[in-house]
Amino acid sequence: MQVTEIYKSLQGESTHAGLPCVFVRLTGCNLRCSWCDSEFSFYGGHKMTVQEVLSEVIRLSPDGGLVEITGGEPMLQEREVIPLMERLLEAGYQVLLETSGERPLARVPEAVIKIVDVKCPHSGEPDTFAEENLESLQSHDELKFVLTDRTDYEFARDFIRRHSLALRVHALLFSPAFAKEASGARDTSHCFLDPQELAEWIMADNIPARLSLQIHKLIWDPAAKGV
Ligand code: SF4
Repeated sequence: MQVTEIYKSLQGESTHAGLPCVFVRLTGCNLRCSWCDSEFSFYGGHKMTVQEVLSEVIRLSPDGGLVEITGGEPMLQEREVIPLMERLLEAGYQVLLETSGERPLARVPEAVIKIVDVKCPHSGEPDTFAEENLESLQSHDELKFVLTDRTDYEFARDFIRRHSLALRVHALLFSPAFAKEASGARDTSHCFLDPQELAEWIMADNIPARLSLQIHKLIWDPAAKGV
């Protein structure tokens, strides 16, 4: 498979945020979100076998723990990423899969926790989530909505209500979009949507969503890679 990087950091934006985690970032994406902070993963990378990726994960985290497969869009490499997930699970790791949900998710092993980033209107990639993937969601999965403004918020709120998602997944994450050229200050001034405003909308509508900040961008320089 084509791999951009494998590194250890803290998981930054899910209900696992704050835990040590090995990230396996695969190369390539078929979307171009306006706020994407992973454009460096669109091209390049290097070929690795499933065994080589597994060996590197074991080297970085020999006692098990959390592994997140991300990208880019990992499901573009389904033929190899599914066996990788199976091998990681067999080795005792807890596996997270970060995906846009544009590709089919039906073959993802049941034990994998899917974090599905449903694209909102102002992502630049609206209507790309494949609604048949709702059938593949399990009670331990999480849905994430990256929000730039009120229009995105209302889309996410209405999507959750229309599909009764609060009853179907473990967590609904509302994350203010972060400026991709941000650097320096490790604070929320780089968010397109003020977290305080978002918090007030969530409370006003009583939406069972968690306000989710990308904590790795508050711990390290927002421009830092491999963290
Ligand atoms: S799906 Fe993810 S990696 Fe691809 S463009 Fe959007 S944010 Fe970037």
